[in-house]
Amino acid sequence: IARMTQEEVDEYRQELEGIKVKGKGCPRPIRAWAQCGVSKKEMEILKKLAYEKPTPIQTQTIPAIMSGRDIIGIAKTGSGKTLAFLLPMFRHILDQPPLEETDGPIAIIMSPTRELCLQIGKECKRFTKALNLRVVTVYGGTGISEQIAELKRGAEIIVCTPGRMIDMLAANNGRVTNLRRVTYIVLDEADRMFDMGFEPQVMRIIDNTRPDRQTVMFSATFPRQMEALARRILNKPIEITVGGRS
Ligand code: ADP
Ligand code: MG
Repeated sequence: IARMTQEEVDEYRQELEGIKVKGKGCPRPIRAWAQCGVSKKEMEILKKLAYEKPTPIQTQTIPAIMSGRDIIGIAKTGSGKTLAFLLPMFRHILDQPPLEETDGPIAIIMSPTRELCLQIGKECKRFTKALNLRVVTVYGGTGISEQIAELKRGAEIIVCTPGRMIDMLAANNGRVTNLRRVTYIVLDEADRMFDMGFEPQVMRIIDNTRPDRQTVMFSATFPRQMEALARRILNKPIEITVGGRS
């Protein structure tokens, strides 16, 4: 690794200022995409998107998730949390044996609203075409049959609202999909998800997945009331905060 210039060191420190890490064994933050195990194809896409380098929350959460740990990532809206869970997710999926005909997804991303699901789906699809992965978005307020048809064709990734996902698991006598191969779970905007009362649905979905799963939680805030719940869902999590947990 080339030595950093003083200017780079100063910039790095400034960026890292305000990153707090709670929990043992957190890997060091990265300062460039090349340091975190992204593939050549992903690098090309990052370049095309003009995402020059990781944002502060990405510098610390990406290596922590890539190392296999459960994490809670807290940073304000617009700080780049989506990519922070997507890049490690792609690697997680590509490390698994490919899906068989009747397999359900490997990764499931939960988010509180249809709009957020669509946004995450869009960011995800910027990468999945080149990576040969399939994404299905599952949300309410629209007909379920098309989403069922898409899921039946198979997908490595589901982006969903918890309510519609529960409906989906019950649809067609439970033959649409299954969560037996899920080993990567994301709870995005976790604070809003629990404010909106989705806790029972989230727990039911998680109960249908494998016990050896990796679970990551992202949120703009992490109120004290969420701690007990996080402890129940996550396994020895590392808590990573940028700019105060409020
Ligand atoms: P959050 O979930 O924290 O609110 P998003 O993941 O929606 O934030 O990202 C906010 C914006 O920043 C999006 O338009 C996203 O494409 C962009 N973005 C994400 N990561 C980077 C990066 N490393 N460099 C530049 N832009 C980025
Ligand atoms: Mg977000």
